[in-house]
Amino acid sequence: MKYYSLNNKLQKISFQEAVIHGLASDKGLYFPEEITPLAASFFDEIENLSNEEIAYQVIQQFVGNEIPELELKAIIKETLCFDFPVVSVEENIYSLELYHGPTMAFKDVGARFMSRCLGYFNKNNNKQVTVLVATSGDTGGAVASGFLGVKNLEVIILYPSGKVSDIQERQLTTLGQNITALEIDGVFDDCQDMVKKAFLDKSLSHKNLTSANSINIARWLPQMFYFFFAYKQLKSKNKSLVFSCPSGNFGNICAGIMAKKLGLPVEHFVASTNANDTVPRFLENGQYDPKPSVSTISNAMDVGNPSNFVRIQELYNNDLEMIKKDFSSYSFTDIETKSALKEIFKTNGYITEPHGAIGYLGLKKEMNSHTNSIGVFLETAHPIKFLDIVENSINLKLEMPNQIMSVMNKEKASIKLKTYDEFRNFITN
Ligand SMILES: *Cc1c(COP(=O)(O)O)cnc(C)c1O
Repeated sequence: MKYYSLNNKLQKISFQEAVIHGLASDKGLYFPEEITPLAASFFDEIENLSNEEIAYQVIQQFVGNEIPELELKAIIKETLCFDFPVVSVEENIYSLELYHGPTMAFKDVGARFMSRCLGYFNKNNNKQVTVLVATSGDTGGAVASGFLGVKNLEVIILYPSGKVSDIQERQLTTLGQNITALEIDGVFDDCQDMVKKAFLDKSLSHKNLTSANSINIARWLPQMFYFFFAYKQLKSKNKSLVFSCPSGNFGNICAGIMAKKLGLPVEHFVASTNANDTVPRFLENGQYDPKPSVSTISNAMDVGNPSNFVRIQELYNNDLEMIKKDFSSYSFTDIETKSALKEIFKTNGYITEPHGAIGYLGLKKEMNSHTNSIGVFLETAHPIKFLDIVENSINLKLEMPNQIMSVMNKEKASIKLKTYDEFRNFITN
């Protein structure tokens, strides 16, 4: 499969090159040249297929012949080593729990898939590759865990100082080995800007830099799996589906729309955001006007200029009216988020966390116009990762899962940086 840069459709490269480069040299995101819908028979028998079989069918065309069948199946097997349950919350409202992986964040899937693809491509040479990743919260931990110990890979994680939760910080600063955490004096957008700048910096071109943010196709595309797994579990209800994704960089929801392009029957998508409302404003007034990100309690979504939105526009040929037919986007405040968290627990006994609660709010708003459908919100992190907010909102002590226990008593190790020059010097040395 070939990929083109969204800034220049004539410049096409392979899956392997797109995974290794992350971003095109003209700053464009890579996009698959073709998207071929899956056979009707696949959807007819999806409930009889294992998650691994589904994932292979879904991703195969995007990898093409660049990873042989057996190797790709092995990568998928290692990627999907946990469950993706759909849990009933209230009548016709379900939570798709994506947090049962090693770092209890949905990004585990993308990070594990990408690290193993890179590992496969690197198997036969001794080139040192440096993976740069900016994180607003959960990406860092998932990437650190997914890439830990992979040969010839050096991982540098940039996170905004004081703007990630205690557990998130421990997950990305306590692993050691090939993982280094840089604590940036700034917000997430500053971290992301530094990473983007490094890729375009000629003085670093000898370093084999790549990204592990959701702009990388190997992180972005496997997120399609979730939507198929949800469909598999809800198919017998015979109702159309509305999905709501708590959205920050818009990679997850864009993967959902890709799933629809592959033939998955989805009636509508909702991108639910916190106060960082660039996309909801765009849908309302047609002006794409990104703003610097603001801090919220759903910090993994504190993104002022969502990278993947251009991919959604590409999927709809930049036609805003077409986008609006399939897709809505709503923004919620921290106060609304906390009160939803409380309310969902009080009424249904179900524990969410700020990201999932925003997904729930967006879903409920949209369901008013889909009364015969089933709504699914994606619960993207385990409540324990937002311990203080969740415990204060629902007045209950949460139990600490094993995955989290294991990082809580380790020592944090990070390096504090402020400017791009300091960052470049760090990479060079
Ligand atoms: C990354 C993240 C999101 C946002 O996902 P995008 O693909 O960036 O829109 C939502 N919730 C959590 C917990 C996350 O870590």
